Amino acid sequence: MQTVARLIQTFVPEHYQLSVSLDRIGRTFAGTVTVNGASVVGAKNIVLHAKDLVIQSATFDGKQADFSLDDQELTITHPDITEGDHVVVVGFSGTITDGMHGLYPCYYEHEGVKKELLATQFESHHAREAFPCIDEPEAKATFDVTLSTEQGVVVLGNMPVKDQRVENDQLVTTFDTTPRMSSYLLAWVVGELQKKSATTKDGVEVNIYATPAQSSDSLDFALDIATRGIEFFDDYFGVPYPLPKSDHVALPDFSSGAMENWGLVTYREIALLTDPKTGSLITRQQAALTITHEISHQWFGNLVTMKWWNDLWLNESFANLMEYVCVDALQPDWEIWLDQATYEVIQALRRDSLDGVQAIQTEVHHPDEIATIFDPSIVYAKGGRLLRMLQTYMGEEVFQAGLKIYFKKYAYQNTEANDLWASMSEASGQDIGLLMNTWISQSGYPVLSVSQEGDQINLQQEQFFVGAHEPSEKLWPIPLGASDQNIPRLMSERQLTVSRSSDLPLVINHESTAHFITHYTPSLLAELLGGLATLSDIDRLKLLNEQTLLAQASRISSAELLPLLAHYKEESVEAVWDIMLVALNELKKFVENDMTIENKLRAYAGNLAEKEFNRLGWEVVPGEAESDTKLRSIVVGLIIYSERPEILAKVAEIYESTPIEDLDPNLRVNIIGTMVRYATDQTIIDTLLAEHQKTTSSELKEDIASAITSTRNPEVIQRLLGILKDPAIVRPQDFMRWFVWLLRNRYARTATWRWGRDEWPWMEETFGGDKSYDSFPRYVAICLMTPAQLEEYKEFFTPLLDQVSLKRNIELGILELSSKIEHIARDEAAVHKALLDL
Ligand SMILES: [Zn+2]
Repeated sequence: MQTVARLIQTFVPEHYQLSVSLDRIGRTFAGTVTVNGASVVGAKNIVLHAKDLVIQSATFDGKQADFSLDDQELTITHPDITEGDHVVVVGFSGTITDGMHGLYPCYYEHEGVKKELLATQFESHHAREAFPCIDEPEAKATFDVTLSTEQGVVVLGNMPVKDQRVENDQLVTTFDTTPRMSSYLLAWVVGELQKKSATTKDGVEVNIYATPAQSSDSLDFALDIATRGIEFFDDYFGVPYPLPKSDHVALPDFSSGAMENWGLVTYREIALLTDPKTGSLITRQQAALTITHEISHQWFGNLVTMKWWNDLWLNESFANLMEYVCVDALQPDWEIWLDQATYEVIQALRRDSLDGVQAIQTEVHHPDEIATIFDPSIVYAKGGRLLRMLQTYMGEEVFQAGLKIYFKKYAYQNTEANDLWASMSEASGQDIGLLMNTWISQSGYPVLSVSQEGDQINLQQEQFFVGAHEPSEKLWPIPLGASDQNIPRLMSERQLTVSRSSDLPLVINHESTAHFITHYTPSLLAELLGGLATLSDIDRLKLLNEQTLLAQASRISSAELLPLLAHYKEESVEAVWDIMLVALNELKKFVENDMTIENKLRAYAGNLAEKEFNRLGWEVVPGEAESDTKLRSIVVGLIIYSERPEILAKVAEIYESTPIEDLDPNLRVNIIGTMVRYATDQTIIDTLLAEHQKTTSSELKEDIASAITSTRNPEVIQRLLGILKDPAIVRPQDFMRWFVWLLRNRYARTATWRWGRDEWPWMEETFGGDKSYDSFPRYVAICLMTPAQLEEYKEFFTPLLDQVSLKRNIELGILELSSKIEHIARDEAAVHKALLDL
C-alpha cells in the first residue's frame, strides 16, 4: 500500500532561523527561513514541505538554486548537493485565510468595536502553510523566530521574548531559541490580550491570556489549575517542566478543544475560561481536564514525541490518562475517575464495537489521512482506557517509575511504542510489550461470557460486535480483575474453567479498568443485582452500561433494560445516574413514533427520578456535595421529561422570575430548553438570540444554542437553518454543534438533513481542510433513524468515499446506522410491551 513520503529520510534539519512579517489588514505574510541541516547519502536535491505558499527565492550554501513547488513539496535542486551539512535559505509569502489552521485570524467584539487576533494551528501538518520546513514530528530542530507585526499588541511565541523594538513602524519581536522540537508544536498569537500570572515552585512563569472582552475573573480558575498542574507533573514525571514559561491563551475562534503547542497552549474560550458567576460545575471540570491534558503533553508529545503519526496514541492516549491522574490529585473531592468510567469508557466501548474501526496504532497512507486518526473515541478514550488498564495491572508506583525511566532516556527525542514498553518492562520486570502490543495493534475488544455449572465457572472470550461483521478469531490477554481468587489474573486463551471459591456475587473487571465487557448468565446477573448495594460505584454503573451494549448487539433484549433500571431506583451517585440516563436514552429510540408508548416512558423516567428529585429540589444548598449539584441537573432533566404539569409550571415560574444570567448555570439549559420546546410563539427565540449575541460568556452562548435548537416549531427550525451559515451568529467553530443539535432533534431532523445535503458544497469549502471535517458523516449517522434515511445516507455519501478523510467514517456510518435500524426493528415490539405492562 502507498505510504506518505518521509522527507527526513533525505534531509535532517538541525536549526531554523525564521523571520516572518504579518500584515493583518492586508491578509498576507512574507518571510525568510534559513535551514541548517544535513543531506543523507545519495540525496540529489533538498525537499521541504510547503503548502499554499509562493516561493520567491531559494539558495543553497549561498548559491542561487533552482526550485519547484508541487502540491505540498518544495524541491530545491543544485548540482553541488551531496551528503553532509548544508544551509538552505528560502524567501516566501502567503495569504492569511479564515480556515482555522496554519496562520489565521480570530474575530471578536469589545465595547462595540470589532477586533481581531492572529493565531496559528500547526498540528497535524499545517506548519508548512506558514513557512517551508520538514513538517514531520521526527524532524526535531531548534528554532529562532522573529515576528514583525503591527504595534500596540501582545506578541506570543513558544519561548519568552528576547528582544522587542520598533523598526519602520513595525513591532519586531525576537524570541529565545527553542529546545529541539517538532514543527507541529510551534505557535504564535498576536493581538490585544489581558493576562493573569503566577509562578510555580520551580520558578516557571504561568500566564493565562484572553481577549479584553472576557471578564478578568474568568481567568482565575485556569491559572490555579495550570500552576498546580505543572507542579504536579514536575514531580510525577521526575523531569522538570522543560521551558521557562507556560502560556495558555483563550482564542475566540478555535477548531478543536485545545492545542498543546510547547509553552504556548491555545484553547477555545469555553475550554479555558470559567466565569465564577455564570459557569457550571461541569464546565469547570471539563476545563480542568483540558488544561491538565495539555500540560501533560508538554512532556508526553512535546518533550518526547512519536516518530510518526501511526503512534499518535503515544501523545493522546497518555494525555487522556494523565488528565484524570492529575485532576484526581488536584481536586480529590471531584472523584474524577467516576467521570472517566462514564464519559470516556462509553465512547470507547461504543465506537470500538464496530467492525472496521481502526486500531489504536494505525498506518497512515496519505497526508489527508493524518487528520482522521484523531478519533476521540479511539486514540483518546480507548487509548486512555488501555493505559489505565496497564497502570492498574502494573500498580501505580511501578507504572510511574516506568514513566520516569522513559522521560530520562528519551527527552528531546522521538519514540515508538516499543520504547515505552521497554521502559515499563525495565520498571516492572515483566514483558509489558507482550501484554500491550496485542491491545494497541488489534481493533475491537472482547466480550467475556461467564457461566456456572455446579461450582465450576466457565469463562470464554470472543470479539464483541454491534452490527454486521466478518468472523473474528482475535484473542486478547485480558486482565480479568475478578473478585473470586480462583480466577487467574490474566486470561489469554479462548476458554477457561475454574472452581468457584466463594458465594459472594461474582464481579469481573472490578472498577472497569480493563477494556472488555462481561456477559453473565441470568443467574449470575441476578446474584449481582441482588447485591447491587454492596458493589462499588463504578461496578454498579459498569454493569448497567454492559447490559446496554449487550442489548445493542442483540445478546439480550432491550426490553430487559426496564426491569434492570428498576434495581437502580435507590441510586444516589451522580455517575451511576449518568449511565441510567444512557440506558433511558437507549429506550427513547423505540418510542419516537408512538405517543402513547412514549408517555409511558416519560412517566417511567419521572418515577425513577422522583426520589432524588425530592431530595435535591430545584436549588443549590450551600455546602452541598458538588456531585449532588451535578446530579440535580440529571434528575431535574428527567422530571421535566416526564411532562408533569406542575413541573412545567415551575420551570416557567423560574424562567419568568430570573434574568437569564442569574439562572443556576447547572440547570440553565434545562430551564431555557423547556421554555423553548413548549413555547407557543417566537418571542422567546427573539429574546434568546439577542442574549446570544450580547453575552461574551461562551458557556451561556452554548447553553442558548443548545436550548433553541431543541425547538419543535417548524418556522423556528427554518429560521435557525437560515442563520447556520452566518458567522456573525453561528461562529464556524460552533457550526458543528448547532448542526448536530438540530439533527438530533426529531422535529428538526428531516429538514436539517436536507439542508446538510443541499449545503454540502459550502460545508466542504468551509471545513474541508479542518480536523473536524470527517465528523460530518459520523454525526449524521448517529442522528438518523429510519430505513429511508439510511438509503438517503448511502446515496449521498457513497460518491464521497474517494475522499480519504471521509472514507472510514462513511463506511462506519453506514454500518452504525444499519445496525441501529435493525436493532429498533428487532426489539421495538418487546420494548412497547414491557412499557405497556408497567
Ligand atoms: Zn491531546
